[in-house]
Amino acid sequence: MIAQPRASHFVDGAYLEDAAGAAIDVTFPATGEVIARVHEATPAVVEKALASAERAQKAWGRMKPVERARILSHAAGIIRDRNQALSELETLDTGKPIQETTVADATSGADALEYFAGLAPTVTGETVPLGRDFLYTIREPLGVCVGIGAWNYPTQIACWKAAPALALGNAMIFKPSEVTPLCALKIAEIFIEAGLPPGLFNVVQGRGTVGAALVTDPRVAKVSLTGSVPTGRKVYQMAAEGIRHVTMELGGKSPLIVFDDADVENAVGGAMLGNFYSSGQVCSNGTRVFVQKGIKDRFLKRLKERTEAIRLGDPRDPETQMGPLVSAAQLEKVLGYVAAGQAEGARLLTGGHRAGPGNGAFVAPTVFADVTDGMTIAREEIFGPVMAVLDFETEEEVIARANATEFGLAAGVFTADLARGHRVVAELQAGSCWINAYNLTPVEGPFGGAKLSGVGRENSKAAVEHYTQVKSVYVNLGSVEAPW
Ligand code: NAD
Repeated sequence: MIAQPRASHFVDGAYLEDAAGAAIDVTFPATGEVIARVHEATPAVVEKALASAERAQKAWGRMKPVERARILSHAAGIIRDRNQALSELETLDTGKPIQETTVADATSGADALEYFAGLAPTVTGETVPLGRDFLYTIREPLGVCVGIGAWNYPTQIACWKAAPALALGNAMIFKPSEVTPLCALKIAEIFIEAGLPPGLFNVVQGRGTVGAALVTDPRVAKVSLTGSVPTGRKVYQMAAEGIRHVTMELGGKSPLIVFDDADVENAVGGAMLGNFYSSGQVCSNGTRVFVQKGIKDRFLKRLKERTEAIRLGDPRDPETQMGPLVSAAQLEKVLGYVAAGQAEGARLLTGGHRAGPGNGAFVAPTVFADVTDGMTIAREEIFGPVMAVLDFETEEEVIARANATEFGLAAGVFTADLARGHRVVAELQAGSCWINAYNLTPVEGPFGGAKLSGVGRENSKAAVEHYTQVKSVYVNLGSVEAPW
C-alpha cells in the first residue's frame, strides 16, 4: 500500500496503533486502488488523546505567546520545505490534481500558521477606568479544542483549525474525515519536529462515533466542525449539552451574479473557478450562476468552449487540470443530481457523464443552462463539478432570488459598475462575498457562513474571539462599602 502511514493515530507526540478499532480503507479515487488502511480510534485511544491534551495545554497556555509563535513559524517553514511531498499525499488522499495541491493546500496551511504566529503575541486585554477603581481583562485560552474535518481539504482544514487554537494557547485533538485520514498525520509529525510539546496536537481517526465521543467529553471546551449541515446540527446539539464553544463551517448553495456589463472572460473564469476547482468539491462554490439576459449568449458560448477544454486525467500528472471526485460514492451522488437536472427540464450544455481515465470516480465538468429556482440542482448542495446557470433581468429580482435559500456561506458579483457591486453585496445574505473574483480565501480575511451555513469565523483576527475567552478582573483600590 503506497501511502500506508506508520500508524493510524498520532497521540502525545508519537504514532499510535490500536488494531482493535474497525478498519478504514483509504482509496486513491483516480484508480480505486487501496493505498492505506487505518483503524478507528478505540475508547482507549480517545482517552489517551484527551488526557495528553489536557495535561499539555496547562503549560502551553502559560507560555509566552511569542515563544509559542516561534514553534508555529518553524512548523510553517517545514511545511513549505516539504510542499511537494505533502501535495503528493494530498493528491493521493483526495484525488485533487497536483497542479492544485501544490498551490492551495499545504501552502495555505503554512499561511495560517504564519499569520496566527504573528497575531498571537499582539492579543492583549484592556484596562477599564472606573474612577477610583479599575478593571482589566485577560484573553485566556479555552483549553482542549476538538477539530473535526471534511474530506475536501484535509491538510488545510487541519491547519486552519490548529493554527489559531495552538497560537492562542489551546490544545487540539483533530479527527480527520474517514475518507481522507492521511494528511493530518503528517502535520502532527511536523509539529513535533518543530518543537511543539507532545499532546498539543493529536490526530485520532474514525467515523461519526469517534467524533461524537470527543464532542461530548467534559474535558473539551470547544468544537470546530467543517462538514455538512446535517452533521453540523448533530454536533452543535451535542456541544450544547455541555455549553461548549462552537465554530460550524457547513455547506452552501452560493449565488454568483453576472451583470450585463461584466467582462465576459473574467465572469466565465470566475464561474469556472467557483464550480470546477477541486472537481467542484468546495463548500463556498458559486453553484447558482445568475446571468443577466443581455450577456447570456456570450457567457454561455465562452463557458461551453472553456469548460470543454479542461484537461481531465490522472491527478498526479502536472498537466491534469481536473481529477476525479473523492470517492465512488460521491460520483454516484453527483450523477444522481445530473439525472435530476435532466428530468426536471434543465438544458444540459456540456458534460453530464462519467469520464476517463479508467475506472476512477471521474465526471465530466457539467453545465446546465435555463435552470429555474425550484429545480433540485438549484436548491441542494451537489459537491461536484455541476454548474447551474439561471437567467435574470433586474438587480432587485436577482438579490431576492439569490437570498431565497436556507444557506448563506458565500456570494459573488461580476460587474463593471463598482457602485453596483458594493450595493448588491451589501444586500446578499452570505458570510464571504467577492466582487469581480470568486473563492479567494486569504488567511487575512474572515471565512464562515450565515444562516444554515454556520456560526463563527475561521482565519483573520475574528478567529481570536473563537479560540479565547475573556476574564474580567475588578480591582478595588479603597475599602469595601458593605451596607451591613
Ligand atoms: P460530513 O458532514 O459527512 O462529515 C464531516 C465530518 O464530521 C467527518 O469527519 C465525519 O466523520 C464527522 N461526523 C459525522 N457525523 C458525526 C457525528 N455524529 N459526530 C461527530 N462527528 C461526525 O461532511 P463531508 O461529506 O466530509 O464534507 C462535505 C461537507 O462539508 C459539505 O457539505 C461541504 O459544504 C462542507 N464543507 C464546509 C466547509 C466550510 O468551511 N464551510 C469546508 C469544506 C467542506
